Amino acid sequence: MKAILAAGHDLGNHSENHKNMSQLSDEQCQEELMKVHTKVQELTGYEMCLFRPPYGDYDNHVITNAHDCGYYSIQWSIETLDIIVKKV
Ligand SMILES: [Zn+2]
Repeated sequence: MKAILAAGHDLGNHSENHKNMSQLSDEQCQEELMKVHTKVQELTGYEMCLFRPPYGDYDNHVITNAHDCGYYSIQWSIETLDIIVKKV
């Protein structure tokens, strides 16, 4: 992560455990975000503000919880194959 930052790239949050965020409680959602946020902040000093939900799975509750943690929710423009490995 330090090398990525040093090369001028941004760092984004993708959750701690790659769960379907829309299935989680508010508390679980925020834990998924903030555990990663704190680790990255402690390691690099960088405060991430972009969150890409695993599997692209989001609803208003996910976006609201991300916002409450200081995050903008984003999606992607290049296929990452997250959809294909999704467990139903
Ligand atoms: Zn993923």
